[in-house]
Amino acid sequence: MKKRIKIQKKKLRIFNPKLSEECGVFGISNIEDASALTALGLHALQHRGQEGCGIVTFDGKKYYSEKRFGLVGDNFNKEKVLNKLPGNYAIGHNRYSTTGENTLRNIQPFFADTNAGGIGVAHNGNLTNSISLRKKLVEDGAIFYTTSDTETIVQLIAKSKRVKTIDKILDAIFQIQGGYSLVMLTQTSLVGVRDPFGIRPLVIGKIKDSYVLASETCALDIIGAKFIREVENGEIVLIENNQLKSIKPFPPKKVRPCVFEYIYFARPDSILDGKTAYEHRKNLGEELARENDVDADIVVPVPDSGNAAALGFAQYLSMNFELGLVRNHYVGRTFIEPSQKIRSLGVKLKLNANQSAIENKKIILVDDSLVRGTTSYKIVKMLYDAGAKEVHVRIACPEIKYPDFYGVDTPTKKELLAANKNNKEICNYIGAKSLKFLSLNGMYRAIGFDKRNESYPQLTDHYFTGDYPVKPIDELGDNKITQLSLLSTASNN
Ligand code: AMP
Repeated sequence: MKKRIKIQKKKLRIFNPKLSEECGVFGISNIEDASALTALGLHALQHRGQEGCGIVTFDGKKYYSEKRFGLVGDNFNKEKVLNKLPGNYAIGHNRYSTTGENTLRNIQPFFADTNAGGIGVAHNGNLTNSISLRKKLVEDGAIFYTTSDTETIVQLIAKSKRVKTIDKILDAIFQIQGGYSLVMLTQTSLVGVRDPFGIRPLVIGKIKDSYVLASETCALDIIGAKFIREVENGEIVLIENNQLKSIKPFPPKKVRPCVFEYIYFARPDSILDGKTAYEHRKNLGEELARENDVDADIVVPVPDSGNAAALGFAQYLSMNFELGLVRNHYVGRTFIEPSQKIRSLGVKLKLNANQSAIENKKIILVDDSLVRGTTSYKIVKMLYDAGAKEVHVRIACPEIKYPDFYGVDTPTKKELLAANKNNKEICNYIGAKSLKFLSLNGMYRAIGFDKRNESYPQLTDHYFTGDYPVKPIDELGDNKITQLSLLSTASNN
């Protein structure tokens, strides 16, 4: 019996390609140089995914597609590539590196020919029922080409019996569940979709008369487009001939954007709910300072993720703010490395202590979040090795105890430090003198949601509370087993 369990576990590791994608999406309609503008938009969204990037264009007759591994600036920077993408309509996608399959075929946008014409699809987020849907589709004879959950959406659109493309899209989105933003290019329109809770972000901009869709407003800024508004939760925007039509097919739900966009994911200059992520993060730091109970000489941010929170913290308490850590900007985000061993190496490669600023100092070290504890563990040691007197770690969000299933790459509960250890144990593990997390109320106060005349929760905050607005169906019971056998075939293609 024991032996059988062992084999099952081994299979899980090998054949469980991670479907979650954080990703950045972009789309633009009816404008010259659509592919070049899309490349710029994707470049601004590079922080949302660095594994691969792709652009699909439409010139009124034909679709064109180019996909590459790596960064936008290294791949879509030359006329030679952009010339392969003619047309005034374009969508693009940045893929986040997960521990799953890193193959060209998983890089988006995806494209399909349906009986109503071609369609390109770019997707940010994660479907919670894609395995169940995939199983049914395969039983009905569908052949999957990728291991991405986005292909499930494409297959559902292609399979729909409805006549018009928009109706096919509606058919598909009524079946999917999870956190998602979609940008699609049909033969007549640019389409944007945001999930019923608005978990993943999507904004609308305008440049001259042309509409733009993007994951974040920083992608509008880079091309000089004006920010119009966010796509609402559960809203579909259909852009045709420079006219925007809004469709709201779902029963109304209270918007619950993902709190991690505010805490970590969005670029600091992007606007979330009327304020920049930078302002939100400074406020998180300020709340953290209100809850502070130690004296220190300086406040040091973990660059760059803790910068804004540390600044808010220091300003609120009128403390000295020092750049006690120096970051090498030519190394990607820590999480990009696929294994824990390489990930910890990544922290060493990325940061170094600035001895002149920290020697003999009592330090309050501020970061936005603590997940596995890898970053804090390395940095605390680094600061002590460089001569710090005391290191007190302050985290500008509550303890992350629950994994995400809506498109943020969090590890399993087993690997989440705060899910398995209490404050004292975490503090010992990371080697700090003291450790404090922001309270849940403090977090809501900082983001300004507590002032609204609405009931809690107003954010998708399951990381801290375990409250999942959409049931993670694929994670439950039998489907997980089915998922393995189905995907093992798909991932070995
Ligand atoms: P850890 O080192 O595992 O405790 O992770 C915490 C660090 O990773 C913090 O510095 C965060 O800024 C960063 N981080 C948190 N969540 C994510 C995520 N989903 N993807 C990439 N980095 C993250």
